[in-house]
Amino acid sequence: MDEAVLEQLCDVAGSLFERGYAHGSTGNISVRVGGEFWVTPTGGALRGLTPARLARLDLEGRRLNEREPSKEHPFHAAVYRRRPEARAVVHLHSTYAVALSCLEAFDGDEGLPPLTPYYFMRVAPLAVLPYFRPGSPALAAAVADAAAAHHSMLLRNHGLICAGASLSEAADRAEELEQTARLHFILRHEKTRPLSPADVLELKKS
Ligand code: ZN
Repeated sequence: MDEAVLEQLCDVAGSLFERGYAHGSTGNISVRVGGEFWVTPTGGALRGLTPARLARLDLEGRRLNEREPSKEHPFHAAVYRRRPEARAVVHLHSTYAVALSCLEAFDGDEGLPPLTPYYFMRVAPLAVLPYFRPGSPALAAAVADAAAAHHSMLLRNHGLICAGASLSEAADRAEELEQTARLHFILRHEKTRPLSPADVLELKKS
């Protein structure tokens, strides 16, 4: 059972890399299995992974096998501790989400024009967290605070974190956030036809 989940993690990681959502050795993904989680290793690309290379940790972030986990594993543990339903966490430095995180005035959902229903169905509400050094305890603490009420987070000057009840749900959220950010930059100087407040309210209720 575990092996199939770990194979899926490696497949999703490779797919995100091949489609340009992750570059170089950036990005990390994890899945929770019972009281522990498995996360992609430090210092390597998300492509070409195998289950044997994944690090196994408990929910306090203590290592349970000899693999070196991503340096950003503390915030994965934080999400699992604060969101009991979360079974997967996807963290990416995808280009447009990072660009959005660098905009001085951007403050979350209100800063994005309501262009498509999919953002509201998959991503909102989006928490925007201050900048913290990657891998730092302060970043993990800020993620823990935000994760209680948000499955989607934008880390200033850094990237995105999306949690889900399954790996596919977490990955779908991350892709939708990246594409919403991309639409924002493509259309920000165009005259757009946004969803009406009633349209948005209907989506938030569903
Ligand atoms: Zn990162």
